[in-house]
Amino acid sequence: MLDDIKTMKQNLKKEVAAIQATVRKKEEQDRQQMDALAKQISRLTVELKKVKTKAMTDGLTKAYNREAFDNYIRKIVDQNTIKNSPFSLLMLDIDDFKKINDEYGHQIGDRVLVAVVRKCTEFIRDEDFLARYGGEEFVIVLPGASLRNALKKAQRLRKAIAGTHYTTDKEKEGKSLSITVSIGASSFRKNDSVSTVIDRSDQALYQAKRTGKNRVVSEDDIESEPSELTSGKG
Ligand code: GH3
Ligand code: MG
Ligand code: MG
Repeated sequence: MLDDIKTMKQNLKKEVAAIQATVRKKEEQDRQQMDALAKQISRLTVELKKVKTKAMTDGLTKAYNREAFDNYIRKIVDQNTIKNSPFSLLMLDIDDFKKINDEYGHQIGDRVLVAVVRKCTEFIRDEDFLARYGGEEFVIVLPGASLRNALKKAQRLRKAIAGTHYTTDKEKEGKSLSITVSIGASSFRKNDSVSTVIDRSDQALYQAKRTGKNRVVSEDDIESEPSELTSGKG
């Protein structure tokens, strides 16, 4: 009888030990699975961040793309309806870029776009926002900058771009490449919408083109175009 109890106790002990081993094994498996999942999540997080960045970036110049700009400016205009945090806007367009492409080829044209972005980056602060607005047109948002300061910055940038000479293969044949840009500037005003503030920069840029290119025009200097020009060809 006593022996029976002893055996039963031993068997029970064995069973408990076996169950404990199984539980430990299961716990270890769970831990490994959790570790694997955590690693996968952090891999996916990194991946997602990369994809998001890529979706906001212009492939050629690595500046922000148009979509990123649209989102950004909508956000800061919305913010201004809550708290007053004005910003200035520069619209920059490369002068006679079509000629550069025609004369030097598309690949050099592409390199010019990259070079212009690099120059812009040199001139802006970390909090400024540079985007490729389209083809050879760029936009720079300067948060907190007055129109006056934005114009100063634009002039410095314009001069720096005009003063840079780029080396190309064709230079050996006596061709040196230099480019100029035209810039239109506007500043956020109370009651502005995204489109009104962009539109004033656009009009200023258009005036810079119309009055000879390689210049900066402020929204304050926009003159309405004579009617015979608006109805003319081109
Ligand atoms: P303006 O001084 O009035 O701005 O004249 P423009 O020749 O610069 O302007 P236009 O709009 O006539 O021509 C722009 C050219 O930009 C035409 C287009 O082929 C070229 N372009 C647009 N995107 C790219 C690009 O990604 N790479 C290259 N190489 N060229 C581009
Ligand atoms: Mg152009
Ligand atoms: Mg253009």
